[in-house]
Amino acid sequence: MIAIGLALTLFQFNQGQLQVWQGVIEQLPYWLLPACIAIALQFNRSRLAYLAAFMLAYFVCTTNDWLGTIEQEYAEQILLGGTFIMTWFAFIKDRGLLSPHSLVRLMGIIVSFAAAFGWLWLNTEFKPLLDQYLPELFNVDVRTLAPLYLCIFIVAIRAAWQANLVNTSIFISLALWTAQFIRPETLPLAVSMTALASIYILTVLTDSYFLAYRDELTGLASRRALFNLVLSLGRKYSVAMLDIDHFKKFNDTYGHDVGDQVLKLVASKIAGVRGGGRAFRYGGEEFTIIFPRKDSSSTLDYLEEVRESIEEYDIVLRDEKRKSQSKATRGKTQGKAKTVSVTISIGVAEHQNGETFEQTMKRSDQALYRAKKKGRNQVCV
Ligand code: GH3
Ligand code: MG
Ligand code: MG
Repeated sequence: MIAIGLALTLFQFNQGQLQVWQGVIEQLPYWLLPACIAIALQFNRSRLAYLAAFMLAYFVCTTNDWLGTIEQEYAEQILLGGTFIMTWFAFIKDRGLLSPHSLVRLMGIIVSFAAAFGWLWLNTEFKPLLDQYLPELFNVDVRTLAPLYLCIFIVAIRAAWQANLVNTSIFISLALWTAQFIRPETLPLAVSMTALASIYILTVLTDSYFLAYRDELTGLASRRALFNLVLSLGRKYSVAMLDIDHFKKFNDTYGHDVGDQVLKLVASKIAGVRGGGRAFRYGGEEFTIIFPRKDSSSTLDYLEEVRESIEEYDIVLRDEKRKSQSKATRGKTQGKAKTVSVTISIGVAEHQNGETFEQTMKRSDQALYRAKKKGRNQVCV
Protein backbone atom coordinates (compact mmCIF):
# COMPACT_ATOMS: atom_id res chain seq x y z
CA MET A 1 0.00 0.00 0.00
CA ILE A 2 2.77 2.38 0.99
CA ALA A 3 4.63 1.56 -2.22
CA ILE A 4 1.56 2.31 -4.34
CA GLY A 5 0.94 5.52 -2.43
CA LEU A 6 4.53 6.59 -2.97
CA ALA A 7 4.40 5.71 -6.64
CA LEU A 8 1.17 7.66 -7.12
CA THR A 9 2.46 10.71 -5.27
CA LEU A 10 5.69 10.61 -7.19
CA PHE A 11 3.80 10.47 -10.40
CA GLN A 12 1.31 13.21 -9.60
CA PHE A 13 3.67 15.77 -8.15
CA ASN A 14 6.87 15.07 -9.92
CA GLN A 15 5.93 14.54 -13.51
CA GLY A 16 8.77 16.68 -14.80
CA GLN A 17 11.36 14.81 -12.79
CA LEU A 18 9.76 11.57 -13.77
CA GLN A 19 10.37 12.22 -17.41
CA VAL A 20 14.10 12.05 -16.75
CA TRP A 21 13.62 8.72 -15.08
CA GLN A 22 11.12 7.45 -17.59
CA GLY A 23 13.68 5.51 -19.57
CA VAL A 24 14.92 3.82 -16.42
CA ILE A 25 11.44 3.07 -15.08
CA GLU A 26 10.33 1.52 -18.33
CA GLN A 27 13.20 -0.90 -18.08
CA LEU A 28 12.80 -1.71 -14.39
CA PRO A 29 10.08 -4.38 -14.67
CA TYR A 30 12.34 -6.32 -17.06
CA TRP A 31 14.87 -6.63 -14.25
CA LEU A 32 12.70 -6.69 -11.16
CA LEU A 33 10.05 -9.19 -12.24
CA PRO A 34 12.58 -11.93 -13.24
CA ALA A 35 14.50 -11.20 -10.01
CA CYS A 36 11.23 -11.59 -8.15
CA ILE A 37 10.54 -14.95 -9.85
CA ALA A 38 14.02 -16.20 -8.88
CA ILE A 39 13.71 -15.04 -5.25
CA ALA A 40 10.15 -16.36 -4.87
CA LEU A 41 11.21 -19.78 -6.19
CA GLN A 42 14.26 -19.83 -3.94
CA PHE A 43 11.98 -19.35 -0.92
CA ASN A 44 9.21 -21.64 -2.18
CA ARG A 45 6.67 -18.91 -2.74
CA SER A 46 5.39 -20.37 -5.97
CA ARG A 47 2.18 -18.31 -6.14
CA LEU A 48 4.15 -15.08 -6.17
CA ALA A 49 6.53 -16.57 -8.75
CA TYR A 50 3.57 -17.42 -10.97
CA LEU A 51 2.03 -13.98 -10.51
CA ALA A 52 5.33 -12.28 -11.32
CA ALA A 53 5.67 -14.48 -14.43
CA PHE A 54 2.11 -13.61 -15.45
CA MET A 55 2.73 -9.89 -14.98
CA LEU A 56 6.04 -10.13 -16.85
CA ALA A 57 4.34 -11.89 -19.77
CA TYR A 58 1.64 -9.21 -19.86
CA PHE A 59 4.18 -6.39 -19.58
CA VAL A 60 6.40 -7.80 -22.35
CA CYS A 61 3.43 -8.37 -24.66
CA THR A 62 1.99 -4.91 -24.06
CA THR A 63 5.16 -2.86 -24.31
CA ASN A 64 6.29 -4.67 -27.45
CA ASP A 65 2.80 -4.64 -28.91
CA TRP A 66 2.99 -8.37 -29.53
CA LEU A 67 -0.70 -8.86 -29.11
CA GLY A 68 -1.56 -6.15 -31.64
CA THR A 69 -5.26 -5.52 -31.90
CA ILE A 70 -6.11 -8.53 -29.72
CA GLU A 71 -5.28 -6.45 -26.68
CA GLN A 72 -7.91 -3.79 -27.39
CA GLU A 73 -10.43 -6.20 -28.76
CA TYR A 74 -10.28 -8.58 -25.84
CA ALA A 75 -9.37 -6.13 -23.07
CA GLU A 76 -12.29 -7.20 -20.88
CA GLN A 77 -11.49 -10.87 -21.35
CA ILE A 78 -7.88 -10.28 -20.32
CA LEU A 79 -9.00 -8.23 -17.33
CA LEU A 80 -11.44 -10.89 -16.15
CA GLY A 81 -9.07 -13.80 -16.90
CA GLY A 82 -6.32 -12.20 -14.80
CA THR A 83 -8.84 -11.46 -12.07
CA PHE A 84 -9.96 -15.09 -11.91
CA ILE A 85 -6.36 -16.27 -11.70
CA MET A 86 -5.55 -13.93 -8.80
CA THR A 87 -8.74 -14.82 -6.94
CA TRP A 88 -7.96 -18.51 -7.29
CA PHE A 89 -4.37 -17.90 -6.16
CA ALA A 90 -5.69 -16.31 -2.97
CA PHE A 91 -7.09 -19.69 -1.95
CA ILE A 92 -4.45 -22.23 -2.95
CA LYS A 93 -1.22 -23.27 -1.28
CA ASP A 94 2.33 -22.67 -2.39
CA ARG A 95 3.72 -25.82 -4.00
CA GLY A 96 7.02 -26.81 -5.57
CA LEU A 97 7.42 -25.77 -9.17
CA LEU A 98 8.46 -29.23 -10.32
CA SER A 99 5.46 -31.04 -8.91
CA PRO A 100 2.25 -32.30 -10.52
CA HIS A 101 0.58 -29.23 -9.02
CA SER A 102 2.25 -27.09 -11.68
CA LEU A 103 0.20 -28.84 -14.31
CA VAL A 104 -2.97 -28.10 -12.36
CA ARG A 105 -1.89 -24.47 -12.10
CA LEU A 106 -1.31 -24.15 -15.82
CA MET A 107 -4.69 -25.76 -16.45
CA GLY A 108 -6.22 -23.32 -13.95
CA ILE A 109 -4.79 -20.37 -15.85
CA ILE A 110 -6.29 -21.68 -19.09
CA VAL A 111 -9.64 -22.34 -17.37
CA SER A 112 -9.62 -18.79 -15.94
CA PHE A 113 -9.31 -17.29 -19.39
CA ALA A 114 -11.85 -19.73 -20.82
CA ALA A 115 -14.28 -18.66 -18.07
CA ALA A 116 -13.67 -14.99 -18.89
CA PHE A 117 -14.31 -15.54 -22.58
CA GLY A 118 -17.34 -17.70 -21.78
CA TRP A 119 -18.89 -15.12 -19.49
CA LEU A 120 -18.51 -12.28 -21.94
CA TRP A 121 -19.76 -14.42 -24.79
CA LEU A 122 -22.87 -15.31 -22.79
CA ASN A 123 -23.42 -11.64 -22.07
CA THR A 124 -23.38 -10.64 -25.73
CA GLU A 125 -25.25 -13.71 -26.93
CA PHE A 126 -28.14 -13.23 -24.51
CA LYS A 127 -28.03 -9.44 -24.39
CA PRO A 128 -31.63 -8.84 -25.58
CA LEU A 129 -32.96 -11.41 -23.14
CA LEU A 130 -30.94 -10.04 -20.22
CA ASP A 131 -31.87 -6.47 -21.10
CA GLN A 132 -35.49 -7.47 -20.94
CA TYR A 133 -35.44 -9.30 -17.62
CA LEU A 134 -32.79 -7.52 -15.61
CA PRO A 135 -33.65 -4.08 -14.27
CA GLU A 136 -32.03 -0.96 -15.67
CA LEU A 137 -29.57 -1.06 -12.80
CA PHE A 138 -27.81 -4.05 -14.31
CA ASN A 139 -26.88 -2.58 -17.66
CA VAL A 140 -24.46 -4.35 -19.92
CA ASP A 141 -21.34 -2.75 -18.40
CA VAL A 142 -22.29 -3.75 -14.89
CA ARG A 143 -23.17 -7.25 -16.02
CA THR A 144 -19.92 -7.91 -17.86
CA LEU A 145 -17.81 -6.72 -14.97
CA ALA A 146 -19.92 -8.26 -12.20
CA PRO A 147 -17.44 -11.14 -11.64
CA LEU A 148 -14.66 -8.55 -11.28
CA TYR A 149 -16.42 -6.75 -8.43
CA LEU A 150 -17.29 -10.05 -6.83
CA CYS A 151 -13.67 -11.26 -7.05
CA ILE A 152 -12.28 -8.03 -5.59
CA PHE A 153 -14.73 -8.40 -2.73
CA ILE A 154 -13.79 -12.05 -2.12
CA VAL A 155 -10.04 -11.36 -2.24
CA ALA A 156 -10.44 -8.37 0.11
CA ILE A 157 -12.35 -10.51 2.61
CA ARG A 158 -9.73 -13.23 2.27
CA ALA A 159 -6.89 -10.76 2.91
CA ALA A 160 -8.69 -9.38 5.96
CA TRP A 161 -9.74 -12.78 7.28
CA GLN A 162 -6.38 -14.47 6.93
CA ALA A 163 -4.13 -11.48 7.12
CA ASN A 164 -0.70 -12.36 5.86
CA LEU A 165 1.71 -10.71 3.50
CA VAL A 166 1.06 -13.03 0.55
CA ASN A 167 -2.72 -12.52 0.70
CA THR A 168 -2.23 -8.77 0.96
CA SER A 169 0.13 -8.85 -2.04
CA ILE A 170 -2.47 -10.73 -4.05
CA PHE A 171 -5.10 -8.15 -3.14
CA ILE A 172 -2.80 -5.28 -4.16
CA SER A 173 -2.05 -7.09 -7.43
CA LEU A 174 -5.75 -7.37 -8.18
CA ALA A 175 -6.36 -3.71 -7.30
CA LEU A 176 -3.51 -2.53 -9.56
CA TRP A 177 -4.54 -4.93 -12.32
CA THR A 178 -8.08 -3.54 -12.28
CA ALA A 179 -6.92 0.09 -12.10
CA GLN A 180 -4.67 -0.58 -15.07
CA PHE A 181 -7.65 -1.52 -17.22
CA ILE A 182 -10.31 0.78 -15.90
CA ARG A 183 -8.21 3.94 -15.54
CA PRO A 184 -4.98 3.33 -17.44
CA GLU A 185 -4.09 7.04 -17.36
CA THR A 186 -3.68 7.00 -13.55
CA LEU A 187 -0.46 5.05 -13.47
CA PRO A 188 1.87 3.99 -16.30
CA LEU A 189 2.11 0.21 -16.63
CA ALA A 190 5.86 0.24 -15.95
CA VAL A 191 5.32 2.03 -12.64
CA SER A 192 2.64 -0.35 -11.39
CA MET A 193 4.69 -3.36 -12.50
CA THR A 194 7.74 -1.98 -10.69
CA ALA A 195 5.61 -1.41 -7.58
CA LEU A 196 4.22 -4.95 -7.79
CA ALA A 197 7.64 -6.54 -8.23
CA SER A 198 8.97 -4.57 -5.25
CA ILE A 199 5.99 -5.63 -3.13
CA TYR A 200 6.49 -9.30 -4.09
CA ILE A 201 10.21 -9.19 -3.29
CA LEU A 202 9.59 -7.46 0.04
CA THR A 203 6.86 -9.99 0.87
CA VAL A 204 9.12 -12.97 0.21
CA LEU A 205 12.04 -11.52 2.15
CA THR A 206 9.97 -10.35 5.14
CA ASP A 207 8.13 -13.67 5.28
CA SER A 208 11.41 -15.58 5.30
CA TYR A 209 12.76 -13.32 8.01
CA PHE A 210 9.75 -14.16 10.18
CA LEU A 211 10.15 -17.84 9.34
CA ALA A 212 13.66 -17.77 10.76
CA TYR A 213 12.92 -15.57 13.75
CA ARG A 214 9.48 -16.83 14.82
CA ASP A 215 8.74 -20.08 16.53
CA GLU A 216 6.23 -21.97 14.44
CA LEU A 217 4.19 -23.64 17.21
CA THR A 218 3.75 -20.72 19.59
CA GLY A 219 4.26 -17.71 17.34
CA LEU A 220 6.75 -16.31 19.86
CA ALA A 221 10.14 -14.98 18.81
CA SER A 222 12.69 -17.79 18.51
CA ARG A 223 16.02 -18.41 20.22
CA ARG A 224 17.75 -16.97 17.15
CA ALA A 225 15.79 -13.73 17.64
CA LEU A 226 16.84 -13.73 21.30
CA PHE A 227 20.53 -13.79 20.47
CA ASN A 228 19.91 -11.09 17.88
CA LEU A 229 18.33 -8.85 20.52
CA VAL A 230 21.25 -9.48 22.88
CA LEU A 231 23.53 -7.59 20.48
CA SER A 232 21.53 -4.42 21.02
CA LEU A 233 21.19 -4.67 24.81
CA GLY A 234 22.86 -2.03 26.98
CA ARG A 235 24.58 -2.76 30.28
CA LYS A 236 21.44 -2.81 32.37
CA TYR A 237 18.96 -5.60 31.76
CA SER A 238 17.43 -8.65 33.43
CA VAL A 239 16.97 -12.16 32.09
CA ALA A 240 14.17 -14.44 33.24
CA MET A 241 14.02 -18.16 32.45
CA LEU A 242 10.62 -19.86 32.62
CA ASP A 243 9.94 -23.60 32.59
CA ILE A 244 6.61 -25.45 32.77
CA ASP A 245 6.34 -27.68 35.86
CA HIS A 246 6.13 -31.46 35.44
CA PHE A 247 5.44 -31.11 31.77
CA LYS A 248 6.80 -34.55 30.97
CA LYS A 249 4.16 -36.07 33.21
CA PHE A 250 1.53 -33.85 31.59
CA ASN A 251 2.52 -35.16 28.16
CA ASP A 252 2.47 -38.73 29.42
CA THR A 253 -1.04 -38.27 30.82
CA TYR A 254 -2.74 -36.29 28.05
CA GLY A 255 -0.57 -36.97 25.01
CA HIS A 256 1.84 -34.84 23.04
CA ASP A 257 -0.87 -33.11 20.98
CA VAL A 258 -2.64 -31.79 24.06
CA GLY A 259 0.82 -30.83 25.36
CA ASP A 260 1.36 -28.74 22.23
CA GLN A 261 -2.03 -27.03 22.68
CA VAL A 262 -1.14 -26.15 26.26
CA LEU A 263 2.29 -24.93 25.22
CA LYS A 264 0.64 -22.50 22.79
CA LEU A 265 -1.73 -21.15 25.42
CA VAL A 266 1.04 -20.78 28.00
CA ALA A 267 3.14 -18.98 25.38
CA SER A 268 0.29 -16.55 24.71
CA LYS A 269 0.17 -15.68 28.42
CA ILE A 270 3.95 -15.23 28.54
CA ALA A 271 3.81 -13.00 25.45
CA GLY A 272 1.45 -10.72 27.35
CA VAL A 273 4.12 -9.87 29.94
CA ARG A 274 4.11 -6.20 30.93
CA GLY A 275 6.91 -3.89 32.04
CA GLY A 276 8.66 -3.86 28.66
CA GLY A 277 9.52 -7.56 28.83
CA ARG A 278 10.29 -9.31 25.52
CA ALA A 279 9.31 -12.99 25.40
CA PHE A 280 11.05 -15.79 23.47
CA ARG A 281 10.64 -19.53 23.18
CA TYR A 282 14.06 -20.72 24.21
CA GLY A 283 13.32 -24.33 23.26
CA GLY A 284 10.98 -27.16 24.28
CA GLU A 285 8.83 -25.93 27.19
CA GLU A 286 11.34 -23.30 28.23
CA PHE A 287 10.88 -19.59 27.66
CA THR A 288 13.02 -16.50 28.17
CA ILE A 289 11.94 -12.96 28.95
CA ILE A 290 14.38 -10.07 28.58
CA PHE A 291 13.70 -6.85 30.46
CA PRO A 292 15.91 -4.13 28.96
CA ARG A 293 16.94 -1.37 31.40
CA LYS A 294 15.46 -3.09 34.46
CA ASP A 295 17.08 -4.60 37.54
CA SER A 296 15.78 -7.93 38.75
CA SER A 297 13.80 -6.60 41.71
CA SER A 298 11.68 -4.35 39.46
CA THR A 299 10.79 -7.30 37.21
CA LEU A 300 9.36 -9.40 40.05
CA ASP A 301 5.84 -7.94 39.96
CA TYR A 302 5.54 -8.52 36.23
CA LEU A 303 6.87 -12.07 36.45
CA GLU A 304 4.58 -12.84 39.36
CA GLU A 305 1.71 -11.57 37.20
CA VAL A 306 2.65 -13.99 34.42
CA ARG A 307 3.03 -16.91 36.84
CA GLU A 308 -0.36 -16.20 38.39
CA SER A 309 -2.15 -15.78 35.07
CA ILE A 310 -0.93 -19.23 34.02
CA GLU A 311 -1.79 -20.86 37.35
CA GLU A 312 -5.33 -19.46 37.20
CA TYR A 313 -5.86 -20.36 33.56
CA ASP A 314 -8.34 -23.22 33.15
CA ILE A 315 -7.51 -24.81 29.85
CA VAL A 316 -10.50 -26.48 28.22
CA LEU A 317 -9.39 -29.62 26.41
CA ARG A 318 -10.65 -30.32 22.93
CA ASP A 319 -11.64 -33.96 23.36
CA GLU A 320 -11.29 -35.84 20.08
CA LYS A 321 -13.29 -38.78 21.40
CA ARG A 322 -16.22 -36.60 22.38
CA LYS A 323 -16.31 -35.04 18.93
CA SER A 324 -17.07 -38.36 17.28
CA GLN A 325 -19.86 -39.26 19.68
CA SER A 326 -23.48 -38.80 18.74
CA LYS A 327 -25.17 -35.49 19.52
CA ALA A 328 -27.32 -37.05 22.24
CA THR A 329 -24.41 -38.23 24.39
CA ARG A 330 -22.50 -35.07 23.64
CA GLY A 331 -25.24 -32.97 25.20
CA LYS A 332 -24.92 -34.91 28.44
CA THR A 333 -21.17 -34.58 28.74
CA GLN A 334 -21.03 -30.99 27.63
CA GLY A 335 -21.71 -29.74 31.15
CA LYS A 336 -18.46 -31.25 32.43
CA ALA A 337 -16.00 -30.26 29.71
CA LYS A 338 -12.57 -31.33 30.88
CA THR A 339 -10.29 -28.54 32.02
CA VAL A 340 -6.66 -28.78 33.05
CA SER A 341 -4.12 -26.31 34.36
CA VAL A 342 -0.37 -26.09 34.55
CA THR A 343 2.08 -24.01 36.54
CA ILE A 344 5.47 -22.53 35.71
CA SER A 345 8.62 -21.82 37.66
CA ILE A 346 10.67 -18.70 36.98
CA GLY A 347 14.25 -17.70 37.72
CA VAL A 348 15.54 -14.17 37.16
CA ALA A 349 18.97 -12.53 37.24
CA GLU A 350 20.21 -9.06 36.33
CA HIS A 351 23.26 -8.31 34.24
CA GLN A 352 26.38 -7.44 36.25
CA ASN A 353 29.36 -5.46 35.04
CA GLY A 354 31.92 -7.48 33.14
CA GLU A 355 29.54 -10.36 32.62
CA THR A 356 28.58 -11.84 29.23
CA PHE A 357 24.95 -12.48 28.34
CA GLU A 358 25.55 -16.21 28.62
CA GLN A 359 26.82 -15.80 32.17
CA THR A 360 23.75 -13.76 33.20
CA MET A 361 21.51 -16.36 31.60
CA LYS A 362 23.33 -19.12 33.46
CA ARG A 363 22.62 -17.36 36.75
CA SER A 364 18.92 -17.00 35.88
CA ASP A 365 18.92 -20.72 35.05
CA GLN A 366 20.36 -21.40 38.50
CA ALA A 367 17.59 -19.25 40.02
CA LEU A 368 15.07 -21.32 38.06
CA TYR A 369 16.60 -24.48 39.49
CA ARG A 370 16.15 -23.04 42.98
CA ALA A 371 12.49 -22.25 42.22
CA LYS A 372 11.98 -25.87 41.14
CA LYS A 373 13.70 -27.18 44.25
CA LYS A 374 11.64 -24.99 46.56
CA GLY A 375 8.45 -26.60 45.30
CA ARG A 376 7.85 -25.05 41.81
CA ASN A 377 5.12 -22.54 40.79
CA GLN A 378 7.16 -19.56 42.05
CA VAL A 379 9.64 -16.85 41.07
CA CYS A 380 13.20 -16.93 42.44
CA VAL A 381 15.98 -14.33 42.18
P1 GH3 B 1 10.16 -29.90 35.80
O1 GH3 B 1 9.05 -29.44 36.67
O2 GH3 B 1 11.34 -30.29 36.58
O3 GH3 B 1 10.48 -28.93 34.74
O4 GH3 B 1 9.62 -31.23 35.12
P2 GH3 B 1 9.45 -31.48 33.61
O5 GH3 B 1 8.75 -32.78 33.41
O6 GH3 B 1 8.79 -30.32 32.95
O7 GH3 B 1 10.95 -31.61 33.16
P3 GH3 B 1 11.62 -30.98 31.90
O8 GH3 B 1 11.49 -29.51 31.96
O9 GH3 B 1 13.00 -31.53 31.79
O10 GH3 B 1 10.71 -31.65 30.79
C1 GH3 B 1 10.71 -31.31 29.50
C2 GH3 B 1 9.54 -32.05 28.90
O11 GH3 B 1 8.79 -31.16 28.11
C3 GH3 B 1 9.98 -33.12 27.96
C4 GH3 B 1 8.90 -33.18 26.93
O12 GH3 B 1 8.01 -34.20 27.25
C5 GH3 B 1 8.20 -31.85 27.06
N1 GH3 B 1 8.33 -31.03 25.86
C6 GH3 B 1 9.40 -30.34 25.44
N2 GH3 B 1 9.13 -29.72 24.26
C7 GH3 B 1 7.85 -30.03 23.95
C8 GH3 B 1 6.99 -29.68 22.86
O13 GH3 B 1 7.35 -28.96 21.92
N3 GH3 B 1 5.73 -30.20 22.88
C9 GH3 B 1 5.30 -31.01 23.90
N4 GH3 B 1 4.05 -31.46 23.85
N5 GH3 B 1 6.09 -31.35 24.92
C10 GH3 B 1 7.34 -30.86 24.96
MG1 MG C 1 12.54 -27.99 30.78
MG1 MG D 1 9.64 -28.41 32.85
